[in-house]
Amino acid sequence: MIPSVLPTYNRAPLTFVKGEGSWLIEADGRRFLDMGAGIAVNALGHANPDLIAALSEQAGRLWHTSNLYQIPQQQALADKLVDATFADTVFFTNSGTESCELAIKMARKHFHAKGQPERIGIIAFEGSFHGRSHAAIAAAGSEKMTSGFGPRLPGFSHVAWGDHDGLYAAIDDTTAAILIEPVQGEGGIRPLPDQCLKGLRDLCDEKGILLILDEVQCGMGRTGRLFAHEWAGVEPDIMMVAKGIGGGFPLGAVLASESAASGMTAGTHGSTYGGNPLACAVGARVMDIIADPAFLEAVNEKAGRLRQGLEGLVASHPEVFEEVRGSGLMLGLKCKAPNADVVAAAYAELLITVPAADNVIRLLPPLNLSDEDLSEALARLDATATRVETSAGS
Ligand SMILES: *Cc1c(COP(=O)(O)O)cnc(C)c1O
Repeated sequence: MIPSVLPTYNRAPLTFVKGEGSWLIEADGRRFLDMGAGIAVNALGHANPDLIAALSEQAGRLWHTSNLYQIPQQQALADKLVDATFADTVFFTNSGTESCELAIKMARKHFHAKGQPERIGIIAFEGSFHGRSHAAIAAAGSEKMTSGFGPRLPGFSHVAWGDHDGLYAAIDDTTAAILIEPVQGEGGIRPLPDQCLKGLRDLCDEKGILLILDEVQCGMGRTGRLFAHEWAGVEPDIMMVAKGIGGGFPLGAVLASESAASGMTAGTHGSTYGGNPLACAVGARVMDIIADPAFLEAVNEKAGRLRQGLEGLVASHPEVFEEVRGSGLMLGLKCKAPNADVVAAAYAELLITVPAADNVIRLLPPLNLSDEDLSEALARLDATATRVETSAGS
């Protein structure tokens, strides 16, 4: 009999009833150190007092109106994002998938409004992940996500990660945009080197096409800058945001330059919930905290410590771990042992990590985790590796 919850996930037998900072707690009191943060969502930890205050203050006043009316909380958050980034304008969504939908619609509409309606092509990369809608699975292109769901949405092509010639060859006069994650998340924590992102920007300028960045996982302070592309010193035309921006409340956004957004006039797109007062009250508090240079400095400092500790673990457990990869507090351990075994052994050590493709486990802790929790995470990972070695030997 089918479970009452549609069985599209293989869930771990863990049930958390409470969260505190970097900790998740089960009903029997077992405390897990959370280095997954809901896959980079709980950027400021669980039960953050500032976010509780922002949410409950707004909850007592007004939850929802409609985008038919002015929403001051949405205006305030849009202003903060525009002030802090390349963007001139912002549309709010409830998820990364919805941000992907709009990013693609916006790029096509941009060329349509410019009198080039034939430019509908989106070039994306193998191993990428952009969400679960028809456009998002067509963009990522993997058989696993698209199989059985009918004809793939047309207008998407795929290039292998790092295949410069393939990328050149894929661009023609029907191309609208290149879509890429500055650091691939689900694909196994694969950072795009700065010079490659610069090269992509130059290529888009040369060909007159748009650069869409998917910063759903790597944005909002995750890499130690507010957005990951800032490290390369280049700007996208359109950017997808979600996950960390709501700190656990469902919120996403599409940021765009005025030119890229030029086709999006009244009536061309919309959302019932997107940017509602509750979500934006929380998002504004998240932005105030994460966009603070002192906060980002602390992220970089912690990232350095975590990375150094992980390098040590790779050296001391060469049978289990192969290498450290990633940027800031978006780190991956490429495993030699099967990554599912490592994630399971970590559960036994009361540590939460997240598997990714390419036999990687991801470490995506709350950005404000304490030094003490960081050291504890390294100790539990060390114990995890020993547990894997012991069970492999027995
Ligand atoms: C999670 C993710 C998405 C999809 O976001 P949802 O909120 O699950 O729809 C898109 N792109 C990237 C890079 C992601 O990590």
